[in-house]
Amino acid sequence: VAQYRYDKTHAGTVTNLRKVHGLDYETAYYWADLLTHPETTCAICGIPQKMVEVYTRDAAHWILGVAWRLTLDHITPGVNDGNYRPLCHACNSTRGPARFTDEEVLQIVGDKWRATTGLRFLWWLNTSPGVGGRANRSPACAARDARFVEGDDEIETPSAESAAS
Ligand SMILES: [Zn+2]
Repeated sequence: VAQYRYDKTHAGTVTNLRKVHGLDYETAYYWADLLTHPETTCAICGIPQKMVEVYTRDAAHWILGVAWRLTLDHITPGVNDGNYRPLCHACNSTRGPARFTDEEVLQIVGDKWRATTGLRFLWWLNTSPGVGGRANRSPACAARDARFVEGDDEIETPSAESAAS
């Protein structure tokens, strides 16, 4: 799977989706909205877009790669019409052209996260494909998480956690 350094704008995402996936403008615009929305999650592992941005803000992340946002997955390779879902780069590239099942992808990608990242940062990680992750660490943490996502450095970051463990 080719890796693309996505243009970090909505317009750039539309252009990318049209070029790479051959979507018409309206469909590309719809998906650009979804793929750049903070609350949109990977359909397999559950990572929300806002956390993809946290992890890839300054550099490529070793699990998530260079893509700063969720990617578009063809559920059935080669089929276009209505056959899309959002996947993070890790799940999309692990899956390849339907090489692994969603369950296998979640196991592989989940193992990588669990090996390197404190469990308290993996509140979003699904227990089975599309199920089990949370949108925020807890309802009480939602406001704090919003500041965290905005880069408030008063709050411990995932990279600090992985460096410590
Ligand atoms: Zn994923």
